[in-house]
Amino acid sequence: AKAAGKDMLSFYDPQMQAVVSMRIELEEDIRRGLAQEEFVLYLQPQADASGNVEGAEALVRWQHPARGLLAPGVFIDIAERSGLIEPLDLAILRQGCELLARWAQQPHTAALTLAINISARFLYRDDFVCQVRDILQHTGASALQLKLEITESLLLTDVDKAVSRMQLLRDMGVRFAIDDFGTGYSSMAYLQRLPLDQLKIDQSFVRGLPDDKGNVAIVRAILSMAEGLELEVIAEGVEHPAQQDILRLHGCRHFQGYLFGKPMSVDAFIELL
Ligand code: C2E
Ligand code: CA
Ligand code: CA
Ligand code: CA
Repeated sequence: AKAAGKDMLSFYDPQMQAVVSMRIELEEDIRRGLAQEEFVLYLQPQADASGNVEGAEALVRWQHPARGLLAPGVFIDIAERSGLIEPLDLAILRQGCELLARWAQQPHTAALTLAINISARFLYRDDFVCQVRDILQHTGASALQLKLEITESLLLTDVDKAVSRMQLLRDMGVRFAIDDFGTGYSSMAYLQRLPLDQLKIDQSFVRGLPDDKGNVAIVRAILSMAEGLELEVIAEGVEHPAQQDILRLHGCRHFQGYLFGKPMSVDAFIELL
């Protein structure tokens, strides 16, 4: 009776009511946007140690008919809660693989890799592996150019399931990166069990470089551990040359951040090359 009373209270709370109806409206709008194919892939360059573009991360943008170009902060949370993140991730994965297949036709883009963000709900779907395999087959993209970014906390929801799915895709040539590395709660033991290729140092650790001693210690520790585990490391959120310098000094060979380019349209990315 107490719980019901609480529900009644929030139901009649006009402020709560406004929040709830805004969410429902946004959810409906996302559903409509998906049907209209308004979600598009933007690309942020990833650079090697000499600053050459070696690939990109796909970051979704919503080309909203009334509100203009929207970044994920506006809609990703609602998409995740409502389950719409699954068709959204699928749409971006499909666009990304179509792009890889097109890139394969041109010598100056054929070697580029594309990193795609995968949400928990998508990874743990029963047909996840099938979906990825079908999209690769259907588009003709090479699995070797595809990298999937997954967050630490997500992998730990069900480690065994995550490992076996990653292994199946890895056998096909798909690579895996841990996103936002260092911000989760994973133990070192898990890290060794996961079939990984790359750690992505979270931008919160890059931000304080080179002056913040704590951040320096953390990125050094990540880099030396990754070397021991034979994992590639990429640093995200690199905005200043001094940040890149100190990362390079400690062995980082891959970089992403405004220093090399903000997320941009596919056409702008091709022009940048
Ligand atoms: P993320 O995967 O950690 O992506 C990095 C975010 O940092 C991006 O924000 C990017 O624009 C921003 N960023 C990159 N370089 C810099 C820099 O030098 N300085 C600063 N201050 N920021 C930088 P964005 O595009 O707003 O994306 C936010 C988050 O939304 C992503 O974080 C990712 O978790 C999620 N997301 C984006 N696209 C997708 C997608 O297709 N599927 C899923 N499931 N999530 C996505
Ligand atoms: Ca990411
Ligand atoms: Ca990240
Ligand atoms: Ca993030």
